[in-house]
Amino acid sequence: MKLFSFFNKKEKKVAYKCSCCGKVYDELPLCFGSDYPNYYFSIPSDERETRIELKESLCVVDEKHFFHRGRLTIPIIDYNENLIFNVWTSISEDNFGKRMDLWENPNRVNEEPYFGWLQTNVPTYGETLNIKTIAIEQNVGLIPEIKSIEEGHLLTIEQENGITYKRALEIVDEIMKYQHSLN
Ligand SMILES: [Zn+2]
Repeated sequence: MKLFSFFNKKEKKVAYKCSCCGKVYDELPLCFGSDYPNYYFSIPSDERETRIELKESLCVVDEKHFFHRGRLTIPIIDYNENLIFNVWTSISEDNFGKRMDLWENPNRVNEEPYFGWLQTNVPTYGETLNIKTIAIEQNVGLIPEIKSIEEGHLLTIEQENGITYKRALEIVDEIMKYQHSLN
């Protein structure tokens, strides 16, 4: 339908404009993340290659510190998408081994959640390093869902209750401002 595609084009509008620099986005950026667990940065950069094993969503340091990456979702109650942070948490050696064993096993969704300490600074949520989390296994091919269980922490509260679109915009704007200040 030529007519409709014409109208669709006309209707394309800006979803988000960064308040610091005016950069324009077709879609509101709602997914943020970190490539490494925080502990990674405590290893001198010239030793990282020998001491750190990093593969996709798994990381082992000195064969005794275990980390994995998961998805921390903050529901936006009045919008059709959620705010997502890809974060790292620690995981015990036993549970790490279990995750490896069950990597391609669809029954892994029945596992008890794995406890871990958050290893990512979640922007705009104050101090989030080493707060308590659990990681919940998902279907094969997906990284675990991470839930903050640190009592009274804003991240726990907003993850449980969800946030408004207005609040999400404030968070995104804060993050974008910071990211753009680095460039
Ligand atoms: Zn900007």
